[in-house]
Amino acid sequence: MGRHWGQHFFWNKGLAEKIVNLIEIKKGDFVIEIGPGKGILTEFILKKTENLVAIEIDKKLAGELKKKFEKLKIIEGDFLKIDLDSLLKKDFKLVSNLPYKISSPTLLKIFKYRETFREGVIVIQKELAERIVSKENSKKYSPLSILLQIFFDMKIAFHLSPGSFNPPPLVDSSALVIKKREKPLLKLKNPEQFKSFLDRLFNQRRKKLKNNLTVEELKILKENDLIEKRAEQLSIYQLSELYRCVYETG
Ligand code: SAM
Repeated sequence: MGRHWGQHFFWNKGLAEKIVNLIEIKKGDFVIEIGPGKGILTEFILKKTENLVAIEIDKKLAGELKKKFEKLKIIEGDFLKIDLDSLLKKDFKLVSNLPYKISSPTLLKIFKYRETFREGVIVIQKELAERIVSKENSKKYSPLSILLQIFFDMKIAFHLSPGSFNPPPLVDSSALVIKKREKPLLKLKNPEQFKSFLDRLFNQRRKKLKNNLTVEELKILKENDLIEKRAEQLSIYQLSELYRCVYETG
């Protein structure tokens, strides 16, 4: 059961404090913590703000936390299923040592709530963190990296070895700091549609773009040199240019 929920707990308070300190949390700031577990990060967040909601799927852990932190608002449930609309009255910040299974869907949920999201620190698998910050001409460059980079400034603060957790996971992890950009890198009328477009272009990433586009799209793009390249070779700006040609002028 624990394994299923990715329960790898931090045991070092110094490390937990260092992670919470990676983002600015001021008194009164509204923070969501996903998977507080035994509360090692929770304790340091509460020192900065009492306006914290912790969402924990494990009933037993949630019960223990309620006893440990009497004032803490704990929601017992699955973060991915919780409707944040009812929870978010204002901007929110996020802290989490995330279970690996829900890392990518959590990032997509942050993307969905990008209007009210401000900044966050998440501990995720190193491989995923590197994928998310990667740029063009890398095998790790993906639709998720592109989409998130348009709206968020993201940096890997440091890597963590399996020994930082109890029990230790099989792979290395990274602390990733995510801040909403004041202005997105580019304006997109329909970011969700852009994401579907990217998913299609990267679906067969080894193929040239012209092989991943429809006949109609190719007609529109007839004079565009970019279609001779592979999706992973194009910058965010070039990919959005292609998208615009197809969807916003076609
Ligand atoms: N924050 C604690 C720490 O750093 O020691 C625990 C981190 S542990 C990697 C992940 C935590 O997320 C566990 O407590 C687990 O029960 C909880 N969890 C797993 N899936 C979840 C979900 N879908 N929604 C909310 N909590 C979840």
